[in-house]
Amino acid sequence: MSKVFLGVGHGGIDTGAVGFLVEKDVNLNMAFACKEYLEAKGVEVKMSRYKDENDTLNEEVKECNAFNPDLAVDIHNNAGGGDGFEVYYTIKGGLGKILAENIEKEVIAIGQNSRGIKTKEGNNGDYYGFIRMTKCPAVICEGVFVDNETDVKGANTLDKQKSFGVAYAKGILKTLGIEDNVDNKPENPIPETKPEVPSEDIFNDGKINCIYDIQEWLNKEYNTALVLDNKYGPKTKSALIKGLQTELNKQFNKNLNVDGIWGPKTYEACINVKEGAMGNITMLIQMALFIKGYNVSMDKKFGPDTTKNVKEFQKANNLKDDGIVGKDTFKKLFE
Ligand SMILES: [Zn+2]
Repeated sequence: MSKVFLGVGHGGIDTGAVGFLVEKDVNLNMAFACKEYLEAKGVEVKMSRYKDENDTLNEEVKECNAFNPDLAVDIHNNAGGGDGFEVYYTIKGGLGKILAENIEKEVIAIGQNSRGIKTKEGNNGDYYGFIRMTKCPAVICEGVFVDNETDVKGANTLDKQKSFGVAYAKGILKTLGIEDNVDNKPENPIPETKPEVPSEDIFNDGKINCIYDIQEWLNKEYNTALVLDNKYGPKTKSALIKGLQTELNKQFNKNLNVDGIWGPKTYEACINVKEGAMGNITMLIQMALFIKGYNVSMDKKFGPDTTKNVKEFQKANNLKDDGIVGKDTFKKLFE
């Protein structure tokens, strides 16, 4: 099975280029579409991030090399007064150059003009770290200039952004020698979706790793009827509290009113949860941590990874960092 790593440029406090669009968000939409298309062809895909979070280049490279893929593509968009797509490959050429050529062809096919396939030399080889430090052939794609009012029109809707992701996927498939069967598909392979709402299959990889999955899980467990919009807002927050209240009633006979509002009774009802615990309360703690920006696995198991993240959260909130989730930590997490 072929493996492909997709770097999703920037994220979190690092917005990347900002103009008529915010680069980090566009990069993620393109990457999801690319992943979906590749997976439908049987390629195993790993992305450097699946949501808006801090993710440094060094981490990206480390993850990529640990995954040991056949090819890697770093997805970016441009700024600084240009017009069109460009792709960087290694000064050593080889398969990286072929990948760049194949991707460029597909990008031109969706109507975007190209500034060309390029290399850039630095003091110790390739200038760009993603190309220099990754072990497999790697390229960096710059889709559009987000600060060019004309160029940005090629990527100003979710569907247009997805078509870039699909073009990258097609270039990757060609490089890997995987049949694409373009002719068997309808003219527009990109399904219509509601604007800005990621479709279910994009995230449906069996694991809980984004807000969308959290909303889906809460609906299933607690009938919270959340709209699956992959955004954390007051309703999702209230659903988390409902979940906690329901579990405290069910598991500890607390007799709380399940109203989704954090109040003194819910605070008093909170129990101590620590390493070794397992189940829905642990899951709700992990979800609350994830929403607060902590990179914790959401797997219902309170293991060392959860303890580490709880301690970090406690430290950041001036709580005693003992890794035990008690009343005050619950309050900071859920209030
Ligand atoms: Zn960038």
